[in-house]
Amino acid sequence: MSTSHYDVIIIGTGAGGGTLAYRLASSDKRILLLERGDYVPRELENWSTRAVNVEGRYQTQEKWRDKVGKELHPHTNYAVGGNTKFYGAALFRLRREDFGVLRHHGGTSPAWPITYDELEPYYTEAEHLYQVHGERGEDPTEPPASAAYRYPAVRHEPRIQQLSDDFARLGYQPFHTPLGIMLDERNRARSRCIRCGTCDGHPCLVNAKSDAQVVCVDPALEYDNVTLLTNAYVSRLETSASGRQVTRVLVDRNGERESYSADIVVVAGGAINSAALLLRSASDQHPRGLANGSDVVGRHYMGHINSVLMALSRCPNPTVFQKSMAMNDFYFGTPEWSFPMGHISFVGKLDGVTLSAGAPAIAPGWTLDLMGKHSLDFWLTSEDLPDPENRVTLDRDGRIVLAYTPNNGEGHKRLVGKLESLMRQQSSCPLHGRECHQGLFSRNLFLGQRIPLAGVAHQNGTIRFGHDPATSALDPTCKAHELDNLYVVDGSFFPSSGAVNPALTIMANALRVGDQIRERLGATRAGSARVSRQTVGAL
Ligand SMILES: Cc1cc2nc3c(=O)[nH]c(=O)nc-3n(C[C@H](O)[C@H](O)[C@H](O)COP(=O)(O)OP(=O)(O)OC[C@H]3O[C@@H](n4cnc5c(N)ncnc54)[C@H](O)[C@@H]3O)c2cc1C
Ligand code: SF4
Repeated sequence: MSTSHYDVIIIGTGAGGGTLAYRLASSDKRILLLERGDYVPRELENWSTRAVNVEGRYQTQEKWRDKVGKELHPHTNYAVGGNTKFYGAALFRLRREDFGVLRHHGGTSPAWPITYDELEPYYTEAEHLYQVHGERGEDPTEPPASAAYRYPAVRHEPRIQQLSDDFARLGYQPFHTPLGIMLDERNRARSRCIRCGTCDGHPCLVNAKSDAQVVCVDPALEYDNVTLLTNAYVSRLETSASGRQVTRVLVDRNGERESYSADIVVVAGGAINSAALLLRSASDQHPRGLANGSDVVGRHYMGHINSVLMALSRCPNPTVFQKSMAMNDFYFGTPEWSFPMGHISFVGKLDGVTLSAGAPAIAPGWTLDLMGKHSLDFWLTSEDLPDPENRVTLDRDGRIVLAYTPNNGEGHKRLVGKLESLMRQQSSCPLHGRECHQGLFSRNLFLGQRIPLAGVAHQNGTIRFGHDPATSALDPTCKAHELDNLYVVDGSFFPSSGAVNPALTIMANALRVGDQIRERLGATRAGSARVSRQTVGAL
């Protein structure tokens, strides 16, 4: 068993871990990144909807269980860059109100231990780092920002522009989705991003998506004090006799058990895997799981209430990159219904191949292929509330069990109703008149109207931060209350989930925590150790 000591070990290289690595890389401190996955291979299949959506080429084959013991194949990815390799790169700030207590129809969304203003500078920095393209001032619920977006909004293609104009005509405020793609529309010939139709859910073959590997991990590895080990599964964390220090990080790699240690250990395996790791690390000093005296670790799992809805028209929708428009007019409710409803945006353009992955409700007289060619494919997100019984646990064999009972569904139902009513009011088509809109169809990729439990893309909340050690596992700096050298910087720390996509908040928080760690290590000076890149696995 080999042992090596580092200043910082980061477990996981996604939105949280990758961004933190970037923040710490220039500090001259010795940093070890441990990633259970490998690099996503760059190959033509990156852009194949069959390979990605039907065959699940890059998804984990791992099997979890749900609360009744039924097998669950999670739609998640273990790779350098984590799930950001596959994300749609819609990079939203939470709303200022999401940081306070919000009354929902189904209960209360609790306050965060930090304010929006405390996170704001890091949101700005994360937007710049991840090259977010957007336009301030369009989104009616947008929180105040200290700087403009550095890159112009991604323009709508004609069908989406027409929809946006229609919504505006009805008195609503559709806006350009803030997007982390490296598109230069003023110079398409030299633009790194080619604006293709397989972005959301796919890796980017030309490395033009602002994912955590391209934007953070690769640049961090330019520093000779940063080392990455891939295929390095962290199985357990062990502590000192007092239980206050993580002293050993146990890793399974290439069939061998290895052990590493660090002054500071940061867990960033994603909200489900990080909770599982802490639970696996139970010991005499931490009998309920590491840092789990409060018994909150694994609890309060949230993943948003998400639906994909296809609005079918008799006119085709030739849009290639569809994810450019969003709407937040109903985020906090309406004059008639004063509870939050959620967020409307788009998924990447669906095609017949992707639709064949499930058993969608086929509209009468249509084929899957035709439906794919004629649909506008909406993504609706509403907030689910932190229920302690919605939780990650381990079964006797150490496998993940994810128990979840949906809650707060009424707002989502009303959001779907709102979209249906807006679509019925679309301008009359010159060819088909009012008959052009054929209705809204749920994309039953996973059978069922809503994205089911296996769709854990927006997982968060399982190791919540807070002031009170009795009700939270992490303090407001994301350090474990019960340990001196353990931090968590992935989506686990959310006490509530808001209703916009989570990644930018995870990234901003990782920058914030990174500053605390740098200060703690006395590493406020930016290093200049830009030497040759460490090779993967070279120890
Ligand atoms: C298809 C898809 C589309 C999405 N679209 C958007 C979007 O448009 N906008 C948005 O904001 N969000 C989106 N998301 C969600 C976003 O990707 C996640 O919120 C974000 O990546 C979570 O960051 P994280 O750091 O918590 O975890 P991850 O990014 O999942 O990173 C966790 C990393 O830890 C590694 N790991 C786990 N366990 C261990 C272990 N025991 N040992 C070593 N390594 C481990 C994993 O392999 C992984 O690399 C999308 C997700 C998916 C799947
Ligand atoms: S749209 Fe741009 S960033 Fe997205 S996959 Fe295509 S080329 Fe890559």
